Amino acid sequence: MVKEILAKPEYSREDLLYFMKLTDNQQLQLLYDAAHEMKKTHVGKKAYYRGLIEFSNICTKDCFYCGIRKSSPQERYSMSRDEILEMALWAHENKYGSVTIQSGERQDAEFTGFVADLISEIKAKTNGELAMTLCLGEQPREVYEDWFNRGAQRYLLRMETSNKTLYQSLHPPTANHSYETRVECLKTLKNVGFQVGTGVMIGLPGQTPEDLVDDIIFYKKHDIDMIGMGPYIVHKDTPMGQQVIATGQDTPDARAQRFTYGLKMIALTRLYLKDVNIAATTALQALHPMGRELGLKAGANILMPIITLREYRRKYQLYDDKPCIDDDPSHCKNCLTGRVESIGDTVGFGEWGDPPHFILRRGV
Ligand code: SAH
Ligand code: SF4
Repeated sequence: MVKEILAKPEYSREDLLYFMKLTDNQQLQLLYDAAHEMKKTHVGKKAYYRGLIEFSNICTKDCFYCGIRKSSPQERYSMSRDEILEMALWAHENKYGSVTIQSGERQDAEFTGFVADLISEIKAKTNGELAMTLCLGEQPREVYEDWFNRGAQRYLLRMETSNKTLYQSLHPPTANHSYETRVECLKTLKNVGFQVGTGVMIGLPGQTPEDLVDDIIFYKKHDIDMIGMGPYIVHKDTPMGQQVIATGQDTPDARAQRFTYGLKMIALTRLYLKDVNIAATTALQALHPMGRELGLKAGANILMPIITLREYRRKYQLYDDKPCIDDDPSHCKNCLTGRVESIGDTVGFGEWGDPPHFILRRGV
């Protein structure tokens, strides 16, 4: 059955669901191998680095799952322009194709202006050679346009889940946590000209295999270029983390299952969308010591090494036990490069690694 479905040129929702519910390890391996083959055909066996700069944990939102939500007791920080610049230049010197600039969500003019200046300065200081991905939440169209015009090429805004009811259960019922706004923002980002990335959390309480399959179909429907998704991981000081712990849903078995769903999502997204970029995220690594290698072997082609200065890493804990918080950027680089090479892939040093999907889309 697995081989028959894999041989089809296009998969139906039922096919995706069949794989999503599959538990036999040997059969799952066939799925991962097929996705690795598909990656070779459409994007090559090369992993690209996006150095992750987590420059501030100040956030105006209160997502129930997140360790830096507004109501969390976490001590706050914002890096200075010079500190961020130092990390971006380090990424450039170390031949990372791009950086991802991430923080909590703020829409005030001080914040959006700070980011705008930063984009211009990184562009100038790296001769436009370092690609920039922004991961700074929902913003008005003018702000997205300004950031794009200054030289940021990519934007990552995770949908978190495409199921509206589930989305609402993850967020407070206030105007700044609206499902519709999130979808609108994805459309605006595409109109503005960004390479658009989205993704979901996998293994959320109440999430079904059907929801996950519908997330993959959502990516296709919205013509997404890049996917960044990973398992949901408990943060014990959050409302969702506490509920998951209290209801016995954070056992080793439950974590292992979330990890397997994470790999299945990567493989099925690769097989269904083919020519997009897909990240093997840090959250995968948090649940399994070989998480990122297994992600690459299941079809992912992007890694996001954290290059945040070590002194800030402990304060940017979206979830508990985040890996690499005691490492420094050069250690992360060597460690990851070893991991990539251990599975026979290579690192695309000094290359942007744009997704072929975007190149084709832009060419039309
Ligand atoms: N504030 C921005 C970017 C920072 S959060 C935004 O929300 O878009 C980046 C991502 O971290 C979120 O999209 C979410 O998917 C992920 N995240 C937050 N808490 C998490 C948790 N407990 N487990 C796994 N991923 C989490
Ligand atoms: Fe803020 Fe993003 Fe965390 Fe939500 S997920 S609380 S927007 S940092």
